[in-house]
Amino acid sequence: MRKIKLVFLPFLALILFSSCIAERAYTENEILMDTVNAITVYSKEEYENIVPAAFDLIREKSNLVDRYSSSSEIFIVNENASSFPVEVSSDVFNLISFALDMSYETDGVFNIAIGPLVDLWKIGTDEARLPGPEEIEEALLLCDYKSIVLDEVNHTVSFLKKGMSIDLGAVAKGWIANEVVSLMKEMGCEKAIVNLGGNVYVIGEKEEGKSWTVGLQNPDLEFGGSYATVDVSDSSVVTSGAYERFFTAEDGTRYHHILDPRTGYPSSSDIQSVSIISADSALADALSTTCFILGVDAAAEICERWGVSAVLLTLDNDIIRL
Ligand code: ADP
Ligand code: MG
Repeated sequence: MRKIKLVFLPFLALILFSSCIAERAYTENEILMDTVNAITVYSKEEYENIVPAAFDLIREKSNLVDRYSSSSEIFIVNENASSFPVEVSSDVFNLISFALDMSYETDGVFNIAIGPLVDLWKIGTDEARLPGPEEIEEALLLCDYKSIVLDEVNHTVSFLKKGMSIDLGAVAKGWIANEVVSLMKEMGCEKAIVNLGGNVYVIGEKEEGKSWTVGLQNPDLEFGGSYATVDVSDSSVVTSGAYERFFTAEDGTRYHHILDPRTGYPSSSDIQSVSIISADSALADALSTTCFILGVDAAAEICERWGVSAVLLTLDNDIIRL
C-alpha cells in the first residue's frame, strides 16, 4: 500500500462563483481517489436520491481503476498482463482503449504506460525522491505503450515486456466525471456541480440563459484566489498544474507529479497551469496533462485539433485563451 499525502486539490483548482440570487444549494463531500469530491445539487429531493447514487458510482468506478488497490482491475492487469492476457470489464476496456489511443495520438506525451516512472518518483507520497539517471533510463524502457496489446473481441490486455504497468491517473477523474454526469442526468438532474478533486463538471445552466462562472485557481495565491474565470454550461473544466502535488528535494528544487516521458523527469514547459473546457471530461483530462507537458505553442494546435477550449497561465503570468 502506498501512503498518499492528501492535498485538498479540489478547492485549489477551481472556485465556483455563487450567484446573488438566493437559492438553496445542497453539497455532499467525500474523500475518494486521494482527494475531496463534492457534488452540489439544488433540491432536497435530488440531494437525497441522486447524490448518494452518484457517490456510489464514483466509489465503484474508482475502485475499478485504482492501481494501488489489490482488488482493482488495473492492479490485476499490472500484476499479470506480461504473463497472460487479462480480461477486464467492458467499462475498463473502453477506458484503456481511449487512454491507449491518446498515447498514440500524442506520440506518447500522454502515456498510459507511465506506471514504472510514477513508481520510481513516488511524487505525492511520503516516499517521494529524486531517482538517479540510470534508474530513470531503466524505468523509461518499461513505459512503452506500444507494447500494450488489446484484444477487442475478448476484452483482454497483454504486455509485451515484464515490469510494465498502466497508470490511469491522468484520465480516471475525467472518465468518472463523465459517468457520474450521465447517471445524474438520467435520474432527472438538470442543474448541478460535480467536482472530483478539481476536475469540475457543471450540469445545465446557473440560471436560465446564464452560464456558470468558474474561477481558475492562481497557483501563487491561497485557495480561492483565481487568476481568471471561464463561463460554461453543461461542460467540464479540467485543470493540470505544477502546484498540485510535488515534493522539494534537499537542494530546494521542486519536482511535481506530471512526468515528461521524453525525459523521465517532471515536465518543464512554459505553462504553470492549464484548464481544458470540453463536454467530454475524459478528453479534457488527457489533454490538460498533454498541454501542460508540451507548452503554449503545442497547446494551441491541440485545442484546434480536438475542438476544445483552454485557458493557460504561462510561467510569465500571461493568460492565454484558446
Ligand atoms: P491530477 O491527477 O493532479 O489532476 P493529471 O490529470 O495531469 O493531474 O494527472 C497526473 C497523474 O497522471 C500523475 O499523478 C500520474 O499518476 C499520471 N501521469 C504523470 N505523468 C503522466 C503522463 N505523461 N501521461 C499520463 N499519465 C501521467
Ligand atoms: Mg489529466
